[in-house]
Amino acid sequence: MSTAPAVQLSVVIPVFNEEANLPTLFARLYPVLDALQRRYEIIFTNDGSADRSFDLLRAQHAARPDVTRVIDFNANYGQHMAIMAAFENVRGEIIVTLDADLQNPPEEIPKLLAQIDAGFDYVGGFRLKRHDSFFRTFASKFVNFARSRMTSIEMTDQGCMLRAYKRPIIDAIVRSGAINTFIPALAYTFSSNPGEVGVQHDERLAGVSNYSLYKLIRLNFDLITGFTLAPLQLFTMFAMLSSAGSLALVAVLFYRRFALNLDRETFGVFTLFGILFFLLSVAMIGIGLIGEYVGRTYLVVRSRQRYFISRQLDTK
Ligand code: UDP
Ligand code: MG
Repeated sequence: MSTAPAVQLSVVIPVFNEEANLPTLFARLYPVLDALQRRYEIIFTNDGSADRSFDLLRAQHAARPDVTRVIDFNANYGQHMAIMAAFENVRGEIIVTLDADLQNPPEEIPKLLAQIDAGFDYVGGFRLKRHDSFFRTFASKFVNFARSRMTSIEMTDQGCMLRAYKRPIIDAIVRSGAINTFIPALAYTFSSNPGEVGVQHDERLAGVSNYSLYKLIRLNFDLITGFTLAPLQLFTMFAMLSSAGSLALVAVLFYRRFALNLDRETFGVFTLFGILFFLLSVAMIGIGLIGEYVGRTYLVVRSRQRYFISRQLDTK
């Protein structure tokens, strides 16, 4: 039996090639947490960095073994999996996620905690003033809009990783074992009392964003397909509409030909089109329905080892 006092706060940080940022992160983060007067731990997940990030993390673990834990992946599995691995290991009652590149100032953590203490079980940060490229900002606004239309998830700023969660939400995320997931959205679905608070947002201290356009698009696919089958259903609904439309077209053609005795020469061609449209729509509905079943099967079957932890440094 361990006699160590319970950990109150776990701070989770994914790290991918952040050697230039880690020293500043350590210098700013630890004092903020030390000043909180709560028992805390920081879990860094090294997401297969190719630079000296792991060495820096190991040195930091040696310097502050009382509160520092490091998870080391064998390869790069992406930011959300890095966070997920830390979630599976957290000990704290409150969990805070944060980026390693200092775009989320650690000094804002107390703001989130104040909201949690006020009774919210999930507090999302939204960036008061974004420091990202115009394209990045625009794309994220667009996806925000699509998400809020297609899912029931309400978030001012889905891209902000500075967030705080109560432990039961993290446990639910871990139990749901999702692959390719978008953690802030998943957490939202488990929250009974979500809150939001504005936070500062800075430019990346050093290096460039690890998200290429391709990765970003894939992440947003995850966000939409991971939470709703709405795109499939929209497709089926569209097919149903067009099927109804072509049926109406055939009816009009028959009416003109036989009731009004018009279109004697062209009747055949147009009827053929009418019937073709109708059959096409039926085929589209069929594809949509199959997609629906495949989608639902997909929701159930995706369970597989999502990452591999090669080393772990624990608090001492
Ligand atoms: N990150 C990671 N694995 C990846 C990509 C990013 O762990 O494959 C980490 C990265 O080190 C940082 C955070 O996720 O702590 C956010 O990444 P980044 O700053 O590149 O994204 P952006 O701020 O542009 O959204
Ligand atoms: Mg960043």
